[in-house]
Amino acid sequence: MFGTVKKRWKAAGAALILKALFFFVVCPAPGEASSLMLSAKPSSTKIMKTDDTKPAAVTAEKSTKPLNLGELRRKYSETFKFRGPEVKQVALTFDDVPDPRFTPQVLDALRKEGVKATFFVVGHRAKKNPNLLRKIHQEGHIIGNHSYSHPQFKNRSLKQFRTEILRTEKIIANIVGYRPKLIRPPYGEINEEQVKWAKKNGYTIVNWNVDSLDWKGLDAEKVKQNVLQAVGPGSIVLQHAGGGTGSDLSGTIQALPEIIHTLKARGYHFVTLPELLHISKSK
Ligand SMILES: [Zn+2]
Repeated sequence: MFGTVKKRWKAAGAALILKALFFFVVCPAPGEASSLMLSAKPSSTKIMKTDDTKPAAVTAEKSTKPLNLGELRRKYSETFKFRGPEVKQVALTFDDVPDPRFTPQVLDALRKEGVKATFFVVGHRAKKNPNLLRKIHQEGHIIGNHSYSHPQFKNRSLKQFRTEILRTEKIIANIVGYRPKLIRPPYGEINEEQVKWAKKNGYTIVNWNVDSLDWKGLDAEKVKQNVLQAVGPGSIVLQHAGGGTGSDLSGTIQALPEIIHTLKARGYHFVTLPELLHISKSK
């Protein structure tokens, strides 16, 4: 009897280790992309993490290990951006739109402050709410492509990536009249062959270097702190104007006026991503 229990414990332990490995390798948390971005130093050439438990395998793995986001950004610096030049400009960006619960309130706040921003559109949401996407466009904001179904691209095929981008592009073009040059991959995650395809086809991939973490349902004070503590010249700020079931973005909406006032007082100008990066909004 004791033997059986022991075996069970062993099996449970092994399953736990496997699960932990699976989550570490396959399922990075949504916030992880941003911490990677903030911690990756442009001057450092070797930030690739090695696996301490398998020193012998490191050398063999090196040549085949996929490039991480920091390495991709350096290798494809003309195509893959996370910040702008160091001038007193900031670009506010809002993901996961259009969402009737939150997008209109974000638009109201921006209109009141006279600020233009960049909105990353999820294709299936645009299909459901074409008028709201039209409104974002008509109010002078820039539209970017944020995939059709919000998958994690890093582990998807090039074909799936292409299909998600082109399907969304078609929907956006039918509503606002242009095919966006800007792509933001969901969770900021993308692999090398996808970046190569984007480069070849004239897209610019844009992540961020300031994460509000507003998707966690933080209150206005915390959202404001997250942005104002990290922002600097040429920053690209990630916020959301759309969310999943049960998500609460009231913190980000309430924080907007104060974030804008504070940064204006510090001498910053608010620009869209094409203005910040000196690129066109369309392909
Ligand atoms: Zn998203």
